[in-house]
Amino acid sequence: MNYISTRGAGFGAHYSFSNILLGGLAKDGGLYLPEQYPQVSDSELSHWRTMSYADLAFEIFSKFCDDISVDNLRALIRKTYRADVYANVRDGSNAQRITPLKMLGIEGGAPLALLELSNGPTLAFKDIAMQLLGNLFEYSLMRCGQQLNILGATSGDTGSAAEYAMRGKQGVRVFMLSPYRKMSVFQTAQMFCMQDPNIFNIAIEGVFDNCQDIIKTISNDHAFKTRYQIGTVNSINWARIVAQIVYYFRGYFDATQDNNQRVSFAVPSGNFGNACAGHIARMMGLPINKLVVATNENNVLDEFFRTGNYRVRSAAETYHTSSPSMDISKASNFERFVFDLLGRDPTRVSQLFRDIEDRGEFDLVASGDFIRVREFGFVSGHSTHADRIATIRDIYRRYRVIVDTHTADGIKVAREHLELNVPIIVLETAQPIKFGDTIREALDRDPPRPPNFDDLEVLPQRFTVLPADVERVKDFIRSQSDV
Ligand SMILES: *Cc1c(COP(=O)(O)O)cnc(C)c1O
Repeated sequence: MNYISTRGAGFGAHYSFSNILLGGLAKDGGLYLPEQYPQVSDSELSHWRTMSYADLAFEIFSKFCDDISVDNLRALIRKTYRADVYANVRDGSNAQRITPLKMLGIEGGAPLALLELSNGPTLAFKDIAMQLLGNLFEYSLMRCGQQLNILGATSGDTGSAAEYAMRGKQGVRVFMLSPYRKMSVFQTAQMFCMQDPNIFNIAIEGVFDNCQDIIKTISNDHAFKTRYQIGTVNSINWARIVAQIVYYFRGYFDATQDNNQRVSFAVPSGNFGNACAGHIARMMGLPINKLVVATNENNVLDEFFRTGNYRVRSAAETYHTSSPSMDISKASNFERFVFDLLGRDPTRVSQLFRDIEDRGEFDLVASGDFIRVREFGFVSGHSTHADRIATIRDIYRRYRVIVDTHTADGIKVAREHLELNVPIIVLETAQPIKFGDTIREALDRDPPRPPNFDDLEVLPQRFTVLPADVERVKDFIRSQSDV
């Protein structure tokens, strides 16, 4: 499998899965994609239906990765997708299934279900891809005798998912910046209670934007980056996307009896990583009817899928909402879909994303491309805080199930796209305990707490407070690295 960039570099050159594993953007600023999407036949679908999650993941990765031996790849995947890693299941769900499907009921003639993606160690769907990334990184660094210092900024889910995936991994250190005293008590405790010597929590005296600015400055310092082997694990990482393709297949199999049935998915979206994985599953031949993109008030993607205009937002126009993991100003994986929508024309993709840098927007209506969005199954919608509260209440009243704010977003928008007899699966992206304040506002009660988290907030914490100063952060990284 050969990889190319959405902006054209690499056509003719050979980038393999392992070549792009540790990287972020392609050198030309584009995103990596396979030269063609592998196709899945009807008989493969039938065969995969009854497989365990790990074996299904192996089959799918095998189609995208041909430079890790079969035995090693299988071992890495089996080590990742184990029931004891996805043990934070709720009422009657089965941890063996890794991503259990929970039927809610029939609404508007459509079976409505939740795909539980949040039973991993940090209670958010990012674990599913990040846990595998931890194992792939360790394997690949050992293979080439390298070290990696992962540098990131977080205001919640991403940071803890990365830390739990990389804890104790050979050759990897994590330096995670977060705004000091600005995250929820639960999320702070989740990160800061980690005592692993390769995990460094850096609490920055400032806001999330200060953290991101520090990361940007260090990323532009190529000498420092090379010397200290700085890398990232952000949502554009290709292996993360492949890991997310797997649960679309799993969800499809669990919602259908045979391959003639079609299923829709509703995806709470921010950076479009999760939705992009659904798009690729559909391109591979999974019988997906619609991909419903659900955003919150930060509706960059909803606006595009309704109007054909893609307009990134300024910091002032990016809102802090009660579904904070979807508070984005631009959708960093969106370029991958645009590449496919434009018939994989890298020249046009490059031009459009130059327009984004110059003018902050582009429009695909006049060029006639936007009409084709429907061929790819995409529709969209968005929710407000009031919608999420109403949805959390309604789902609890009807089904006695408590959903988090991001999942509520997905359900609200899924309900606007119901079709008779077509099952619709909402991806459940986090457990409600992570957003306790909003759950109390909606239901006047505490969300259920998984048993492993009983005394999370009173565990000893390990973190370093630093001012919002790039040099101080660099000094800290230097002092903790062997070079
Ligand atoms: C990251 C995240 C999202 C958004 O996912 P994208 O892949 O960025 O679109 C939605 N919900 C939760 C809980 C998340 O952590």
